Formats: sequence, C-alpha cells, structure tokens
Amino acid sequence: MTLMLTAILVASWFFIWCFIIIGRYRNEIASYWKEPVLKFPVLIFESDDWGAGPLIQFRSLARISSILSKYVDKYEHHPVMTIGVVLSVPDSEKIRQAEFKKYKEIRLDHPVFSPINKALIDGLDQGVFDLQLHGMAHYWPDNLMRALVSDEQIRHWLDQDKFPQTETLPSVLQSRWVNAEQLPTSPLSQDEIDKAVDEEVGFFKQLFGFYPKVAVPPTFVWDLSVERSWKRHNIEYLVTPGQCFNGRDKEGKPNGARQKIVNGQLSDSGLIYMVRNDYFEPSLGHTSDMAINTLMKNTELGQPTLLETHRFNFIQDDDATKNAIAELEKVISGALAKYPELMFLSTHELADKLASKNENFIERSFGARLFVCMDRLWANQSIKKWLYISGLFVPLLLFLNVRKKTWNQRMY
Ligand SMILES: [Zn+2]
Repeated sequence: MTLMLTAILVASWFFIWCFIIIGRYRNEIASYWKEPVLKFPVLIFESDDWGAGPLIQFRSLARISSILSKYVDKYEHHPVMTIGVVLSVPDSEKIRQAEFKKYKEIRLDHPVFSPINKALIDGLDQGVFDLQLHGMAHYWPDNLMRALVSDEQIRHWLDQDKFPQTETLPSVLQSRWVNAEQLPTSPLSQDEIDKAVDEEVGFFKQLFGFYPKVAVPPTFVWDLSVERSWKRHNIEYLVTPGQCFNGRDKEGKPNGARQKIVNGQLSDSGLIYMVRNDYFEPSLGHTSDMAINTLMKNTELGQPTLLETHRFNFIQDDDATKNAIAELEKVISGALAKYPELMFLSTHELADKLASKNENFIERSFGARLFVCMDRLWANQSIKKWLYISGLFVPLLLFLNVRKKTWNQRMY
C-alpha cells in the first residue's frame, strides 16, 4: 500500500513538472524536435557586406580565397565562405551636387569595382565563395536621404571615404526593409518592396549570370511582405539569426516576433529559413578556439555550424586583417583535425540537403532524434534550471546516459 502510494506520488510529481516545463517552454521544445538532426559535422562561414564599397576589399577577398583553397574535407570540398553581396553604395559627389534632393548610387558593375568583382568570381569558380543577396544597398535610400537632409553627422559620413562604409552608419539606417522616418519604424508598402526586390534580384542576375538562391536581410530586419516578394523572385532560402525582427522600436532596437526559428523551417511565404548560430568576428575578440567550441557543441546537438563574420574584420588595418585571416585558418585546420568526417558546404547546399531529407545526411530514426532533442533541451540553460529545481534532471540524465552507452559510435 505504501509502495503504491509512493509510486502514485512520484508519478504525479513527474507528470506535473513535465506539464509545467513543457507548458512554459513549448516553443523551444517544439523547435528542438523540428530541427533536423545532422549525421555529420558541418561548418560554414557566413560573411556579409562585401561588394560595392572600399576598393581594399579585393585584396582581402583574394587573401581569404587563398586560405580557403588550401584545405579540403574528405569529399574534396573546400571550406566555403558565403558572401552577402551589397550591390551599390551612394554616389556622394552626385548626391551633394543635387544638394541632397536626389538619391544617386554607384553600382557594383561600375568599372571602378572590377577588381572586387573579379575576386568574387574567382572565389566562386574555386568553390570557396558562394554569393548571396544582401541587398541593392545596405539601407533604404529614402531613409538615408532624409537623414542626409537633417543630420550633419550623416553628411559627414557620406564624405568620409570615396566609397562610404555602411558599417559606420547608425544601426537604424543600416536596416533596408523599414520606413525609418519615425521611431518606431513602420513597414514599407508591398509596391515599394516589390519594385526594390525586382531591381536587386534582376541586377544580381545581370551581374553574376545567375539568380541568387539565398537572401540575407541587412541587420536581420524584414517582414513577411519582403519574404513573399523574394519568393516570387526565385529566392529559396533566407538566412536568419534564429528569430525574426520586423522593425525597430522607439529606441531604434530591432523588435518583432520572438519565436525561435530553426534550420530547414518552412516559412509562411514558402521560403526556407537557415540559422546562423554563432559569431566569428576576430576584430571583436572572437578566437578560433571559441569557434571550435561552438562547432563541438553544435555537432553534439546534431546541428550545423554557421559562423557569422563581417567584412569589417578583413578591411580595417593590416594587423587586424592578418589576425582575422590567421584565426580563420586556425578554425579550418582545427575543425578538420577534430572531425575528419567534417563537411564543408555552402548554405544553399546545406539547405538543399535539408530540403531533400536525405537519410544519408539526416537522422530519421525516432529514437535517435528523441535523444538529440533531450540533449538540446539539456543544453538550454533556462530549461536546465527548471530541470534542477523540479528534480527531473535525474531521469533525464539517466536517459541521456543510456544514449551515450548505446549509441555513441553513431558518428562523431
Ligand atoms: Zn550587413
């Protein structure tokens, strides 16, 4: 009788706490279950802001290519840096001549940018770059023009360099897909979006000879109207930071739907989301050891590693560039040493594989997926706290221990 009562109490305790934790973290838990479990470690460098802009880029791109082309995985694929291309910059001289009443741009097909174009195409041909659409410009031109009229500092920015660096614009202005006339920002109209997307996708095709498959929204601010327009223009995949920001709040900070996005998730627009899951910005102190730790953590959880690294790491002064390139090389060599079965892919190749649901690449067994889902749950510090408070960490750790003993030869 006492035994039965104890069993009932333990079972009640178990189910009540499961109910509370699942209720509180249902979105996270659902996303851990939904995200595909990869059978192989995957490493991708995702880099933005290249293209129209300072001419020094061509040298940095060539240096990056030469490092990437030194290494291959067991399938003879080079490591890939995806390049989020910006297709134009403001034409400072003409805008000033027009007394800030008319926006003028210089596009990436201008002969002055041909060394940059050549470096991009060379990298593409060598299989070390893949070109993604970052935007016709790293801002919405009307927002920039309004700021130029009213703000002395923005006029100063325009004149700082022959080709101004958009990285140094105020963050709100770096977003492309909002009307920033007032804060909080308001959405652009579908007509405005469609016209701009048509123009940028068309120009990308004209310049590189193929349509972009992947879009990366500047500052990760976008909405469903933009997605729908991209989808109508042959874009298939959208790179995200794991959540969607629709606009900027009254302080200028990105805000919007906080719901977690996972790799391979189908959006309401029909695009498929991909997720950058860590930063690798050597000029901000990120090291190769940190990147390798991220790779280990993601690999353990059956996730790819998409490291976000911006152009600014590679175009400041020579020391910073040398350090960034040396750290990049250390990540690649360290990753290959740690995981001989490591796969180098571009983001669209990874997304294609996820979409194909290929069993050689993605774990399909229910048991294996359940174990990985529990691992993902345990890796979430907030959920882990509740598992400790409730005592549910005991059965969870026993469960994961069984996995380690029975299934550890699976891959890594
Ligand atoms: Zn950017």
